[in-house]
Amino acid sequence: MSARNILVINCGSSSIKFALVNEAQSTFPLQGLAERLGSPEAVLHWQLGDTKQSLDIPGADHRAALEKLLPLAQDAAGGKLDGIGHRVVHGGEHFTGSSLINEQVLQAIRDSAQLAPLHNPANLVGIDAAIALFPGLPQVSVFDTAFHQSMPEHAFRYAVPEFLYKEHSVRRYGFHGTSHSYVSKRAAEMTGLPVDDSSWLTAHLGNGCSTCAIVNGESRDTSMGLTPLEGLVMGTRSGDVDPNLHSYLNRTLGWSLEQIDRMLNHDSGLKGLSGLSNDLRTLQEARAAGHAGANLAFEVFCYRLAKSLASMACALPKLDGLIFTGGIGENSTAVRTRTLEHLKLFNFKLDEEANARCTRGVGGEIQAPGSPRVLVVPTNEERQIALDTLALLDA
Ligand code: AMP
Repeated sequence: MSARNILVINCGSSSIKFALVNEAQSTFPLQGLAERLGSPEAVLHWQLGDTKQSLDIPGADHRAALEKLLPLAQDAAGGKLDGIGHRVVHGGEHFTGSSLINEQVLQAIRDSAQLAPLHNPANLVGIDAAIALFPGLPQVSVFDTAFHQSMPEHAFRYAVPEFLYKEHSVRRYGFHGTSHSYVSKRAAEMTGLPVDDSSWLTAHLGNGCSTCAIVNGESRDTSMGLTPLEGLVMGTRSGDVDPNLHSYLNRTLGWSLEQIDRMLNHDSGLKGLSGLSNDLRTLQEARAAGHAGANLAFEVFCYRLAKSLASMACALPKLDGLIFTGGIGENSTAVRTRTLEHLKLFNFKLDEEANARCTRGVGGEIQAPGSPRVLVVPTNEERQIALDTLALLDA
């Protein structure tokens, strides 16, 4: 059988990220981004091999953009596309793994839309358009939440009245499951440990950030909750705040729930703390130049991350390693160093040279002798989505 090709699609509210994954190739033959969809500035960017191209698609919506990009994927796959893998943000309690898409699965994704009102509807638009354009091709949904369905009840329940869970689905779900799962399996491969007898702490640090405790290949706890706002400080998201903040701001400033939501999701995190930027690269440069806000944002980010990792350790029977991934986790030697300085009780020590070497897609172990393992593992959500899709095609 020749190596199969899977198109991976990730639809956001006004964008589509896509990648063609060939099971025999480590790089993507085609990848790209359609952005500003629904506006006059809508544009499709793609990279085919080493060649980058862009096409203005003014006014294009998700469907129109998919109509342009699907033939590109067909061509790049030599006319032989074997399936499409869709990233879906929220699967509620319906899905413990990835699923071949059928009418029942679509209904369950619709039912979960209340839990992810910005994401699931966009994911559904992408799925509907792909089915309309390629009705004969198997399509698979891969959920951010599914990996965390193995959390025990004491980890996923909030201490609120039971009917809110039973009748209104209020519980912790967790996100970034594809990434946490992928990097923990890669770490097991890299260290020669069996997945089904290994315990990891993972820190996915990108624009969104979360930690996870993974035992024998299963999520046992994670820092995000009902929505991707809970937990760590992120690019523009606050992470944990006192739940009474809402009523306090309403009483003192007269802010509406929408205003508070917007502030916590879009104006907080590194951006809110620094008053400068949500981008850690910018903050690291500003910090080096003496910018007090950038320094504070960096310090709060690392301390809160360390606190989260320490609390995740409650879910582990032993620690085989701490894994850093995501744009920040894979690249910021300073974040890795500062975070571990806050975890002295774990006896972590870094090998400075190895820490400096592991950036820009280079992974490996970065601990000094005598320290528990610390690994940098580049994440690859597209490949994991393609692998899940292939596994379902094989089944
Ligand atoms: P992601 O969402 O995984 O693409 O990660 C985005 C975050 O990674 C942003 O805060 C970037 O500033 C950060 N990032 C990317 N490259 C670097 C780098 N070389 N050094 C520090 N942070 C980086």
